Amino acid sequence: MTVFNIGSINIDHVYQVSHFVRPGETLTSNHYQKILGGKGANQSIALARANASVKHVGAINQSDQDLVNQLAQSGVGTALISHVTQATGHAIIQVNQEAENAIVLFAGANHAITGTQLQETFAQAQAGDWVLLQNETNGIDTAISLAKANNLQVAFNPAPMDKTLVEQVIEQIDLLIVNEVEAMDLFNVKSVEAAQRQFSQQHPQLAVIITLGSAGVRYLDKDGVIDVAAFNVQAIDTTAAGDTFIGYCLAGLMSEQPIALALRQACAASALCVTQNGASTSIPTLEQVTQFLEQQA
Ligand code: ADP
Repeated sequence: MTVFNIGSINIDHVYQVSHFVRPGETLTSNHYQKILGGKGANQSIALARANASVKHVGAINQSDQDLVNQLAQSGVGTALISHVTQATGHAIIQVNQEAENAIVLFAGANHAITGTQLQETFAQAQAGDWVLLQNETNGIDTAISLAKANNLQVAFNPAPMDKTLVEQVIEQIDLLIVNEVEAMDLFNVKSVEAAQRQFSQQHPQLAVIITLGSAGVRYLDKDGVIDVAAFNVQAIDTTAAGDTFIGYCLAGLMSEQPIALALRQACAASALCVTQNGASTSIPTLEQVTQFLEQQA
């Protein structure tokens, strides 16, 4: 079984600054890092580190082949990544002395996925394979409809949240994965419990994962609710915690683990992720996750 992850690939340009640049100001930064990012790329790397078979479907500028090489080195299938003339998606990230950030995001090539590319993707897929999507690429609704027409299972992580888009596609989704803010935003409510009630009333057949940060995760489906607590770790940087969770959870489901075990493994992986600085570099390997779980037993 394979996951076709239709997702963003970004270059994160991270600058340490004394303060956020003000209108008209030219500000010198004395520390710069260029990092592979994007929710799509992070989730593909998490799937690959969890030993799942994953093919990334995305687009980058033809001059940024090194990003494809980095994904390939992590074990991600890259043959379905197209090279286009638009700039690769990127984020200009200022990090101030209080460790807050201010970000300019440019979707660029992430919005250049074509219908032909999707056709090519689904021609390779076999019934029962998964299609995973976040909300950082174009053509989400078309991709989901094509996936269902090809008898594929669809997991959707609508981040950043677009309520109208989710309402449009929700009936075609097999697994929806949101964090608590996205869950509340989807129904304009102020608590996770209220969002949970809306899911049960409006979409009783849908499987939903709501990640709850240091409180762990709640899973809902037609058979009931499963809560899994987070592991108690010293959190240093929660970047990519959600992406790590999603990759590991889907990998668990694909290897036919019971859902409770897949959730536990994903909580362990994301707990390890938050103990490290960085995004894709802090996603642990399956060996590290297994070792961590053995220590907890
Ligand atoms: P997102 O990054 O998408 O907002 P969350 O913050 O909900 O997602 O985190 C995803 C998962 O990462 C959680 O369900 C939990 O398992 C794990 N996690 C996040 N923060 C912590 C933490 N401080 N300690 C342990 N695990 C954490």
